[in-house]
Amino acid sequence: MKDRKLKYFEIRVEGIVQGVGFRPFIFRLAKKSGLKGFVRNDTEGVLVGISCNKEQVENFIKKIYSDSPPLSLIKNISFKEFSHRSFKDFKVVKSELTLKKDTFIPPDTALCENCRSELFDMDNRRFHYPFTTCTHCGPRFSIITDIPYDREKTAMSPFLLCKDCRTEYEDPFNRRFHTEPTSCPVCGPKYFLKNKKGEIISDKIDEIISKTIEEIKKGSIIAIKGVGGFHLSGDAKSDEVVKKLRKRKKRPFKPFAVMVESKAIAEKIFQLSEKESSLLESKERPIVILKDKTRIMSEDIAPGLTFTGVMLPYSPFQMLLFNKMKKDTILIMTSGNISDEPIIFKEESLFDELGDIADLFITSNRDIIQQSDDSVMFIIKDTPVFIRRSRGFVPVPFFSKKTDKRFFAAGADLKNSFALAKEDKIFLSQYIGDLESPLTEAVFMRSVSHFKKIFDIEPEIYVSDMHPGYFSSKIADRLGKDKKSFKIQHHHAHIASVLEEHSEESHVIGVAFDGTGYGLDGNIWGGEFFVADKFEFKRVGHFSYFKLPGGEAAIKEVWRIGASLMFEAYGKDYNLKNNERNFVLELLKNSINSPLCCSVGRLFDGISSILGISDIISAEAEAAQLLEESALLAKIKRVFPVNIKKTDDKYILNTTDFVLGVTNLINEGLGRSDVSLAFHLSLVRSSVELIEKIREESGINKVALSGGVFQNRLLLSDFIEELEKARFEILLPKNVPFNDGCIALGQIAIAKELIK
Ligand code: ZN
Ligand code: ZN
Ligand code: FE
Repeated sequence: MKDRKLKYFEIRVEGIVQGVGFRPFIFRLAKKSGLKGFVRNDTEGVLVGISCNKEQVENFIKKIYSDSPPLSLIKNISFKEFSHRSFKDFKVVKSELTLKKDTFIPPDTALCENCRSELFDMDNRRFHYPFTTCTHCGPRFSIITDIPYDREKTAMSPFLLCKDCRTEYEDPFNRRFHTEPTSCPVCGPKYFLKNKKGEIISDKIDEIISKTIEEIKKGSIIAIKGVGGFHLSGDAKSDEVVKKLRKRKKRPFKPFAVMVESKAIAEKIFQLSEKESSLLESKERPIVILKDKTRIMSEDIAPGLTFTGVMLPYSPFQMLLFNKMKKDTILIMTSGNISDEPIIFKEESLFDELGDIADLFITSNRDIIQQSDDSVMFIIKDTPVFIRRSRGFVPVPFFSKKTDKRFFAAGADLKNSFALAKEDKIFLSQYIGDLESPLTEAVFMRSVSHFKKIFDIEPEIYVSDMHPGYFSSKIADRLGKDKKSFKIQHHHAHIASVLEEHSEESHVIGVAFDGTGYGLDGNIWGGEFFVADKFEFKRVGHFSYFKLPGGEAAIKEVWRIGASLMFEAYGKDYNLKNNERNFVLELLKNSINSPLCCSVGRLFDGISSILGISDIISAEAEAAQLLEESALLAKIKRVFPVNIKKTDDKYILNTTDFVLGVTNLINEGLGRSDVSLAFHLSLVRSSVELIEKIREESGINKVALSGGVFQNRLLLSDFIEELEKARFEILLPKNVPFNDGCIALGQIAIAKELIK
């Protein structure tokens, strides 16, 4: 028999349910079902109170699951039953503070189609209004100061709603019902065009747009305020502009991202698969790495590379700008910073930091609360891979095993992201940058406090890398003074991040190829084969060690690594062509300042130098990227043998065999590209051979891959194919990068096991 007795029910909805149109959705649902009661936001999410019978409440919850708004993410729905209460109607009530602060904040999302058509509709009151937004789109994470998420707790709080906006805001049938950041030309913020002195040239949007376009045509560089910070923009087709920007930004090599108006335009310029185009158009609007098929941009956009980072407009301002330009315009859209410093997002530092880079400045009187760079991704074998997880994705949590402890993980020093965790959630921060810079460290500290506040996490356990010299580890020690702490081996964190994402609890074969990571033996690791789970790891194989003459100096001067590898292979007979460089042979012979390393990243650097592709580099992975690029042009497929030596408890891949393999092919008369390809293929084949030996011994068939070296798409796809051929089950990162952006997630995963 069905229970038709009237009761009062409280439904608790947890997840990303605030600022995504959840209350109006519930309101409409209740009206449609003829139910009375209320809905409100609180610090735990959304609370619905209704009077009805048991069957009705169950149906209501089913509907919530099936029809929830596009930007919401439901984690859990539960309900409690009380004795009957009567209501006159169904109401949306004001937020109430409760003790427990546990709600999510939505990420920043591209302008939706409805808002976009209003933007270009002359009869709409938001025609050409660059701050338009609705419940289903717009900035969130970047403008929220605290929770519960209400207008007062956003960067929109100084702007009081006008009568028209208030009417929309209060109308449950309006798209802007309770859209906290809504505004219009009458009541909202404004854009300003400013000169280098910070003087206002214009505050009228149409004038700003036309003046900006004029200046871009003239070859100026413009700083444009975006969602997570300032971009530096200019004509991507002009050699002069691109060269000027490289010089001013002190960035000789690292590719600049570009923006084009639409998918249709992108298709004409770049090779675009179906998956790539849907990623390009997704509401997160990341930068997608695409192959340039026309070469109509300046070659200096991505020197020596055929791939470029491309994105589509996501803010109203960007759409307005492109709408008035020639359809095939390509604009540089690179983070507004100098070299590798953090992105500038505050007007206070704008003119100090970018004054010498940009000719003109487009700012606004709406603050950016949390900075974020554009996310960067590529597609491999129809699967999206992150290079940088930031705008559009942060702060969506990773759901994890429940814990009653609260964690902080500092991540790594390069490409830093930190993480906080409590209950069943891990909040990975946006891309922070390279912590060697004091400016980045300041951004790190501010972002940590912000995350602690908005997610209400006061950590009890502090986790960091075991590298004694890491800035991130020192910060963790400082923040977590007198608190419990864990030091995690770098490559274990790499592998653990993959296991965490796949909820993998058993042991796997973990393969971590990256630049550098501090090893248990004090050497630099980075060519690692582990048998590991989230709790422990055993190093069962690695590349043989080689010396880095001059230590740190060899990271930029990659010719030193080439010399070291050649010296190792050819011994006394080897001399550098450049006499002035022969001093490194003395360093090597006498083992002076020449730390041992087995990093695959450094091996790539060395081979790139031996092939005459790279000598001194200006950006991380530059030598490896150029080596990959060279291999893409290969016509002949060759593989050379690499010896795997078995010691007591490990397999050692002989690094010298790569040097001999490469030089033998050169002596045979093979071209550089063919040799580059042979190096890639031989590296993959010998690694997979080693992995097969581990499988034979351990009986483990699952392989997890991590480490920045796998951002080499040629290497990655070949690696996956070879593993598939050998019938391995492959685990890859899903929502974190292969690079050190995954470390904090891995550190938390391990700490959660260690604390048990
Ligand atoms: Zn919208
Ligand atoms: Zn208004
Ligand atoms: Fe790493």
